[in-house]
Amino acid sequence: MKAGTILMDDLFGDLAGLGIKKPQSEDIFKEDEQEAAVRPGVQSPIEKKEKVFNEADYIFDKNMECPVCGRSFKTKKVRAGKARFLGTDSDLRPLHEGVDTVKYDAVVCLHCGYASLERVFTNVTAKQAKEIRDQIGYNFKGMTNSIGAYTYEEAIQRYKLALLCCVIRKMKISERAYVCLKLGWLYRGWKSTLSESDADYAKKKKECDDNEKSFITKAYEGFKIALAKESMPICGMDQYTFSYLMADLARQNKDYDNAQKFIYEIISSRSVSAKVKEKARMLNERIKQEKDEQSS
Ligand SMILES: [Zn+2]
Repeated sequence: MKAGTILMDDLFGDLAGLGIKKPQSEDIFKEDEQEAAVRPGVQSPIEKKEKVFNEADYIFDKNMECPVCGRSFKTKKVRAGKARFLGTDSDLRPLHEGVDTVKYDAVVCLHCGYASLERVFTNVTAKQAKEIRDQIGYNFKGMTNSIGAYTYEEAIQRYKLALLCCVIRKMKISERAYVCLKLGWLYRGWKSTLSESDADYAKKKKECDDNEKSFITKAYEGFKIALAKESMPICGMDQYTFSYLMADLARQNKDYDNAQKFIYEIISSRSVSAKVKEKARMLNERIKQEKDEQSS
């Protein structure tokens, strides 16, 4: 597939219920011409059987002001330091006891539909605000702040609005890829909460699997474009964290030669700690094993 032309099948279709028309192009990495941890088999905390966790205990409602419409609204946020950090998946998805913190990273203005990862929520130019109002705000039916934890459906809808706003704001390709990565993580998190006793378990699992893979691929393609045209740090990651992430995304996309190139960048560097190199070597073992399995 040619870089920069990643088309999706009705990517934003599930925003129709919010009154949002499908954008003309679903190529989320299109730009203006002129602007041109080791996965240790950690079970999702929600699956723990011996102790019952209530995700709502880990979150609170935070007041926000929208930089697009100027109105106040509430968003859910994870209480700092409350959830025990358990480690990460191999593509750096964070795992916490009792709460999937990833769900709470996309902030949506309940009045106008403007959405963004919290880190870049306020950095909106006047031109971007106008585009958001024109393309989303006037049609947006409004949302309510539900009680308790977000379901995965709610979190995914919020992230898709954030992705659409990234495209409308013509944000850096890396920022768009990062939202795709987190969407992949959400489908993986959702999958871990499914129970085999559910009537539609096989269907739901397949949907989660397919969507996870699709967004991980989009994230990898987007970050590859970003790597060629942006400078470090990318999405707040230093060069070696980014190389590690890319190695694992390449592995997940069965692009094993590139996965090993990214690993080599880490292992051959003099400025990387022994601990990080060891982590990279362990990932490399997994890459080699999967590469061998693939070719045998
Ligand atoms: Zn707003």
